[in-house]
Amino acid sequence: MTQNLDRLNALPLRDNLRGKSPYGAPQLDVAVALNTNENTHPVPADVHAAIVQEVTEAAWTLNRYPDREFTALREELARYLGHGLGSEHLWAANGSNEILQQLLQAFGGPGRSLLTFVPTYSMYPLLASGTDTAFIPGERAADFGLTPESAAEQVRRHGPDVVFLCSPNNPTGTALGQDVVTAVYEAGEEFSTVVVVDEAYAEFSHGGTPSALSLLEGRPRLVVSRTMSKAFALAGARLGYFAAAPEVADAVRLVRLPYHLSAVTQATALAALRHSASLLANVEDIKMQRDRIVDELKRMGLEPSESDSNFVFFGGMGDSRAVWEALLADGVLVRDVGIPGHLRVTAGTEEETSAFLESMERIASAR
Ligand SMILES: *Cc1c(COP(=O)(O)O)cnc(C)c1O
Repeated sequence: MTQNLDRLNALPLRDNLRGKSPYGAPQLDVAVALNTNENTHPVPADVHAAIVQEVTEAAWTLNRYPDREFTALREELARYLGHGLGSEHLWAANGSNEILQQLLQAFGGPGRSLLTFVPTYSMYPLLASGTDTAFIPGERAADFGLTPESAAEQVRRHGPDVVFLCSPNNPTGTALGQDVVTAVYEAGEEFSTVVVVDEAYAEFSHGGTPSALSLLEGRPRLVVSRTMSKAFALAGARLGYFAAAPEVADAVRLVRLPYHLSAVTQATALAALRHSASLLANVEDIKMQRDRIVDELKRMGLEPSESDSNFVFFGGMGDSRAVWEALLADGVLVRDVGIPGHLRVTAGTEEETSAFLESMERIASAR
């Protein structure tokens, strides 16, 4: 390992990549993997059959490059989102991570900056260094909340080129108020800041939590990013997308690789979207398991945050590393997000959630 590191350091790597570690959520072989916020429900049989059929058709055309504009997919995504959006407002890429990278390639880059409010998604600083964008870690309150006043003040102080707002926030799980989004957008007006709301978990929000999609009208520098990796149970297919003013899609056309969305990816996503009803049926079950985790952890004397996502962030443990290890010994893998005294667990199927809660109960009562 050290030898590999020495060899890496001997390469003429860009300075802002030196000493960095790649993204690496552990991919351990455990019975109950609740560490990367995937949808742990299997792909429903009708969706599986539809994907196989679309991909089988697409396989006959693989001698040709795919539709560079993935027009059918953008139309289907617009239909799914509603809010009066058309295909011209939509853009897609290989996961919302590529979406965020393309936005930084277009609007960030050398001499430019990205502001986010930490703790938040651990990929943001990596995407910033990969695109040579200066990373500004903004602050949250002690309870990890963010008020419109504080967010706007930090935007005015730093004058960032891009702001990423993660809502619901990973790892804390809580959605931002729309007043935070509008305050950040208004504060960024004088710097022409591009404001990206990462709504990877939007489908899991409690009823009545509005999406930033309803704020797009009249805000040409607002972008709402979504993914099929979480609610759609399609993490392996790699399909992320955004909705914004049509000119934002034109901006990322300047940096996307030619034919970046393969015909297989387009066929898979189209089939899944046409069966969104049966895919999203599992979302209600996951929300129930999520609320069950919050209630049960509270009963055990732990301190879970309110969650609008498919995971729960919880504190109230002295030695969270010891709890993480004790869970793993029971075959339950959760995420240590590097915040002392806290862990994050994904809401799984009913059985997986029970396995986690039973293990937690044993660990909590032994303390
Ligand atoms: C999981 C996650 C994503 C999704 O990434 P994909 O590349 O679409 O799989 C995006 N943002 C956040 C905050 C996430 O937690």
